[in-house]
Amino acid sequence: MANNKAKLYVFSAPSGSGKTTIVRDVLKNFSEFVFSVSATTRKRRSTEKEGVDYYFISEDEFKKKIDNGEFVEWEKFYDYYYGTIKSLVDGNLAKGLSTVFEVDVKGAISIKKVYKNSVLIFIAPPSIDVLKDRLIKRNTETDEDLEKRIERAEMELSFKDQFDYVVSNVNLEEAKKEVKKIIEKEI
Ligand code: 5GP
Repeated sequence: MANNKAKLYVFSAPSGSGKTTIVRDVLKNFSEFVFSVSATTRKRRSTEKEGVDYYFISEDEFKKKIDNGEFVEWEKFYDYYYGTIKSLVDGNLAKGLSTVFEVDVKGAISIKKVYKNSVLIFIAPPSIDVLKDRLIKRNTETDEDLEKRIERAEMELSFKDQFDYVVSNVNLEEAKKEVKKIIEKEI
């Protein structure tokens, strides 16, 4: 039965801000929440699972889905496409399941335009230098991709005022606690 209390918790942050760790923590603390698995044309990282982290599809398949209007929103960056699949979101909400999203800033703003019961949470890195350092240590990107991600981080930070909440991730444990409090308040 539809539960109109179901909400969309939409997380955005420049990559390397600790967003993935925080989102995992949310899903652990609120075990009734589900994660919105996006589609992407980017290559799968060794730590990622098909259908769990993303649906990894070809550019042709992605473009077909765009033409068929299957996305709530989609963005292209770093030469790859990323999109939120409408039927999956609607399916979760129809079941009354609150859904957690991890999308870029423009995606978050687009989601809120479609679903008014969205709560937008921006995870901010302490500084661009710290972010750079974290990305270098993570070592999952080529130098060129790393440079692009840093440029993008600066752009993403300029959108943070359009979010309902901004959580600064200076200390990961503190940031996790703050996010938990926000959600407890919103439930
Ligand atoms: P990554 O390649 O590091 O997994 O993701 C790159 C960026 O794409 C991140 O900012 C991530 O949040 C964003 N992203 C992932 N899925 C989607 C989506 O469905 N839509 C949008 N707009 N961005 C997404």
